[in-house]
Amino acid sequence: MIPYGRQSINNKDIEAVLAVLQSDFLTQGPAVEQFEQAVASYVGAKYAVAVGNATQALHIACLAAGLTDADVLWTTPNTFVASANCARYVGAQVDFVDICQKTYNLSVSELKKKLSRAEVLPKVVIPVHFAGQACAMQELAELAKQYNFKVIEDASHAIGGEYLTGKVGNCQFSDMTVFSFHPVKIITTAEGGMVTTNSKELYEKLKLYRSHGITRDAELLLDKEVGPWYYEQQLLGFNYRMTDMQAALGFSQLQRVDAFVAKRRELVARYNELLQELPLNRPYQTPEANSAWHLYVICLQLEKLSKTKKQIFEELRAAGINVNLHYIPVHTQPYYQALGFKWGDFPKSESYYQAAITLPLYYDLSYEQQNEVIEVLKKILR
Ligand SMILES: *Cc1c(COP(=O)(O)O)cnc(C)c1O
Repeated sequence: MIPYGRQSINNKDIEAVLAVLQSDFLTQGPAVEQFEQAVASYVGAKYAVAVGNATQALHIACLAAGLTDADVLWTTPNTFVASANCARYVGAQVDFVDICQKTYNLSVSELKKKLSRAEVLPKVVIPVHFAGQACAMQELAELAKQYNFKVIEDASHAIGGEYLTGKVGNCQFSDMTVFSFHPVKIITTAEGGMVTTNSKELYEKLKLYRSHGITRDAELLLDKEVGPWYYEQQLLGFNYRMTDMQAALGFSQLQRVDAFVAKRRELVARYNELLQELPLNRPYQTPEANSAWHLYVICLQLEKLSKTKKQIFEELRAAGINVNLHYIPVHTQPYYQALGFKWGDFPKSESYYQAAITLPLYYDLSYEQQNEVIEVLKKILR
């Protein structure tokens, strides 16, 4: 079976985790700060806060942005449910902005239209860098200024990617950026997530929300002269901490992020070349972005095919190619339908969903395995 994605772990990764296991701190030790500083410096942001996964990162980013149950958050339907659920965690309403048919990212022209007609403006917008390709952040940032909303980039797919002259995560056009380190993503800590920001104020809030709302930082304490045992809980936070084992793995993985992305780009170039005669759309790339290529998604030209997408998907799985689908439009999930959304609300995300298939793409995918994927696909589509 060839999976659609998987981690690549080497001996250095294993040694890094073992070293933590034999050290004084399994959690709240030095490895977390080391990983945070390394990610901040790699992406070009001032601050980074590590947490247990990207879902937690999105949750505390919403809290730090001041999102409450009186507010609305907008995101794309073409994402993992976590990008919308984070609003629900704080009691906020969710609404969606349909996708661009070329990039499959949140469409900034749709966003502009929706903002100009909105009765209630969003407090936060979460663009998702689908498959690793950055959204049109510059245009989005202009709208953020005009309509006064905060921007949290969901870059779960995109560490190592670039937008204009900078790395994704530098927050040049946003307030915060969230990364995921789940094993199928570009680098992994097993479970893990990170928020980057250039705002000291947001950084301090994120740290409070991560750890029970508690601080020991002398600068932040309201009562400064109590004693060396003293700490203060200043708001209601959580235990969303990353362990030192995870952080050490992440730090070690980060040393290979450019190699990971370079190999993905090579495999993508091969797919693009070898699939060009088939009745399918290969992924479009905007000149502004340089994708990290978390996913390679094809869209079947179903009008040219005698099989349904379901048949094709099942035949690929039966042949040992574990293709996947990113994403079922979030607004069509039963939970969101119960909130009032329905099929037909975001037609571009829905027609994309009818045609899309995610092919295997990961660092250790060999050319032979990739050729097998291509041959099987050719046979099924012929
Ligand atoms: C993977 C993913 C998440 C959630 O990440 P976890 O680390 O598993 O919580 C959120 N958003 C997107 C777009 C993702 O792909």
